Parts: sequence; C-alpha cells; structure tokens
Amino acid sequence: MTILDRDVVIIGAGPSGLTAAYELRKAGKSVAVLEARDRVGGRTWSQNMDGATIEIGGQWISPDQTGLYSLIEELGIETFERYKEGASVYLADDGTRSVYTGDDFPVAESTVAEMNKLIKEMDRLTAQVDPDAPWAHPQAAELDMISFHHWLRTISGDEVACNNVGLFIAGGMLTKPAHTFSALQALLMSSSAGSFSNLVDEDFILDRRMVGTMQGVSIAVAERLGEDVFLNNPVLKLDWSEDGVTAYGTDVTVHAKKVIIAVPPNLYSRISYNPPLPRRQHVTHQHQSMGLVIKVHAVYETPFWREEGLSGTCFGPSAIVQELYDNTYHEETTGTLVGFISDLQADAMFLLPEAERKDAILASMAKFLGAKALEPSVFYLSDFGAEEWTRGAYATSYDLGGLFRFGPDQNKNVGPIYFSSSDLAGEGYQHVDGAVRMGRRTAVRINAAIEGTEPAANYDGVKSLFGTLAASGN
Ligand SMILES: Cc1cc2nc3c(=O)[nH]c(=O)nc-3n(C[C@H](O)[C@H](O)[C@H](O)COP(=O)(O)OP(=O)(O)OC[C@H]3O[C@@H](n4cnc5c(N)ncnc54)[C@H](O)[C@@H]3O)c2cc1C
Repeated sequence: MTILDRDVVIIGAGPSGLTAAYELRKAGKSVAVLEARDRVGGRTWSQNMDGATIEIGGQWISPDQTGLYSLIEELGIETFERYKEGASVYLADDGTRSVYTGDDFPVAESTVAEMNKLIKEMDRLTAQVDPDAPWAHPQAAELDMISFHHWLRTISGDEVACNNVGLFIAGGMLTKPAHTFSALQALLMSSSAGSFSNLVDEDFILDRRMVGTMQGVSIAVAERLGEDVFLNNPVLKLDWSEDGVTAYGTDVTVHAKKVIIAVPPNLYSRISYNPPLPRRQHVTHQHQSMGLVIKVHAVYETPFWREEGLSGTCFGPSAIVQELYDNTYHEETTGTLVGFISDLQADAMFLLPEAERKDAILASMAKFLGAKALEPSVFYLSDFGAEEWTRGAYATSYDLGGLFRFGPDQNKNVGPIYFSSSDLAGEGYQHVDGAVRMGRRTAVRINAAIEGTEPAANYDGVKSLFGTLAASGN
C-alpha cells in the first residue's frame, strides 16, 4: 500500500479531474489522481480497429467550446474538420427516403414552418437562460414542471415537427425520451451551446475533431502529471472532516486537504463517505441519471457515399439509427460511418441476440445509404451503459422538476469535498468543454480556499489562470 500526503486528491481521471489536477499543479499544489479504470480519459476513449481510428466516446468540438480550445492550444493538439461535403438523407416516419441540401428537413412545407416556429421559440427562451443558473429564469419553476415532449406540443400541433425538433435534444443530446425531462432541462442544453439554432446545426455542433483523438487530450494532460496519476485505483471509501480527507484506492491511500470528486454524478453514491454526506446531497444525487445511447461504428473499404455526392449525414427520427455521419479519420482512406441509437431504440437493440442486433442496425443504416452499408469490415458498438465506471451515455441530467429543485446546490462544496464534472457545467454542459471549464473552476476555488484568498469572481474556466506546465510531469 502506498500512502501519500497531498494538497488535493482527485477521484477520476476523465477530462474534468485531469484538468483540475493540472491546474492545481500549475498553481504549485501537490496532487494525486486516483482512477478506477486501467486508462485515463473516462467517457473519451479511442482504439485502432483493423487500421481504423475509432472514437468510442466523446470526439467532436464546436466553435463555442473555447475552454477546450484553449486547453488543446496549450497542449499543442490540432483539430481537423469533419467531412461535410454533399447532400444529406432524411428518412420519414413512413420510411420514405429523401436526399436534400440546406438546413430544412425535406418535410411538408407546413411542417417546415412549424419546425421553424418551435426553433424560434426555443431560441427566444434560450437567450433568456443563464447556463450557469437556469433555475434563476423567471419561469424556471413552471418550465421544469412540464416534460419537453408536452411543452413542444403546447406550441405546435404538428406531430412530425414536434418529433423532429424534440430529437435534437432528446435522442440527440440527453439521450432520454422527451417525456422524461423538462423543458427547463432542454433549455439548459441549448443555452450551454449558445443557442438552440447552434444545437440543431450539425455543421456547428459536430464541427471538428482532434488530431490524435479526443482521448489524446486526457493522455497529454496525464503525461504532464506524470507519476501523480494512479490507474486501477477505484475509490470506494472517503473519510472527511473540516480538517481534511483520506481517500482509499486499491493500493494507494491519500491524505489531503481537499478532494475533488470528478466522477459522473450518477456514481457519487458508489463511494462510501464517512461521515455520510448531508441530506441535501443524498437526495440531490438520486435525481441525476444517465441517458443511454449506442454509438455504432462501421468501417468500409472506401467512403462509398461520397462517390454518390452524399455527405454521410442522415436523419431518421423514428429509425433505429436516428443520426448517421461520416466519421472517417482525416488520415485514412477507408470510410467510417458513425451512427447513434438512442434511449428506447437502444433498449430494443440490447434485447436482441448479438447477430440479430448487428443485422438490424446495418439494415437501418442501409435504408439511408444503400446496400453497400450492409458489409462493413469493422462493426463496433460503444456500450458505456455496461461500463461499471460510467453506466450510461452521454451524460447525466435531472428528472422532471429536479433541475429547479436541486440545481442551485449541485456545485456547492461540502466542507473539503468538491464536485467537478461536465454534467455540472453551464457552458459546455455534457461535453468535454464543460469538463475542462469545471476542472479549471474547481481548481481555482480550491486553490483560493487553501491560500485563504477569494477565488476570481465569475471565472468561466475559458482560460487557465495558472500558466503552463512542461510535458515532463515535473
Ligand atoms: C458515446 C459518447 C459520445 C460522446 N460524444 C461527445 C462529443 O462528441 N463531444 C463532446 O464534447 N463530448 C462528448 N461526450 C461527452 C464527454 O465524453 C463527457 O462529457 C466527458 O468525458 C466528461 O468528462 P468528466 O471528466 O466529467 O467525466 P468522465 O469522462 O466520465 O470521467 C470520470 C472518470 O472517473 C472515473 N471514476 C468513476 N468512479 C470512480 C471511482 N469511484 N474512483 C476512481 N475513479 C472513478 C471513471 O473511470 C472516469 O475515468 C460523449 C460521451 C459518450 C459516452
């Protein structure tokens, strides 16, 4: 057993915990990061499969994600643009396939008008919502009382329009059915990206990718932390008092002044706290749950859809694979498609035996892009729901009424215990950008607490306040 004394112990080596540790080290504090898995990166994870680069977890960055952009600039990591040339494909509820260009789905003109009405209303309200405090909106209580599904239908009677617009937040982001979360939760999602229009614009929200993969960002930070990162050390027990904490990993025990719990909120109760956390945290943490989405990768000899003038971007609000994109890594000549199967469709897929599941998913992809889609050389399903140290995808959100009721307390520390996660972020919520911003903000708060000073007021985590650290780890 290794026993360490540090200023701060960080539980979880995902982008948030690693960023916090990195910032604290730059501020001259000693840290130890205890990670349950045998790798860093958490919900960002990549592998090479038969020569194809597969991003199993988070991968895209959008222009507003300036917290992550500033971190990668510091680390010397570059980005490349997602392939976006050519027409898109839309699959209507009755299975009719349309090839289209431009921003509007190829649906009836009246439905386009209703979709635009819904988008305009979402944009109007989003502009009034502070992503750091959505509960402070004057109508927050009532917006948190109604499901997003029903709220959309208070504005439009067009079922197709409601389903299509609902998809961008339900299947597309929170990965839960639209009847399980509130209109306020949906507005947090859109305000975290600047506007609802940004969120529905796949060329904005899925703009670029990392050269060297998104997990590479965490790997680069971990390299700078060197021997302060301890893998295979799940923390299941934490002693704490106003004087400090002791975190127990498998073979590392850390005594520290403060602790950052940088695991997803649905896993807070995996740790046994001694003494127990206060009632407020006990209750709050039960209302934050993970969505569920299957990210499916299929690799082909060539990106055959490009030869047909297609971008690979496809939408089918009631299809098994609701979204499909060209996900070819910039240096590769093979063609890679990535698809998303969300919530109820994901449940249905996991009920099928493996071979049938594969057939059903490929058949769904073929409805968009033709028979060539049926025969990939690599077929891989990301299954974060089955991962003990995540238990869902992409992230956590509140149940109906939870955001207004518990949100105001979610980022408060409990004595020496601080929480940091992309799922507690305002801007960049549920994204790596939010993880980075939260990591920086938490580090600034803890550094000030240790120094006995006031943390920078309204610090947004966009730029590091503590300079840089060389890659040697020291
Ligand atoms: C399939 C998928 C696709 C996504 N796509 C995108 C995308 O395109 N763009 C984007 O920006 N974001 C995307 N995301 C979201 C993004 O990956 C997350 O927002 C981000 O990784 C969250 O970072 P985090 O550090 O807060 O948490 P995590 O990445 O979850 O890291 C938490 C870490 O804590 C560890 N841990 C858990 N419990 C313990 C314990 N008890 N003791 C020690 N360690 C523990 C975990 O193993 C993990 O390493 C996607 C996520 C998924 C799953």
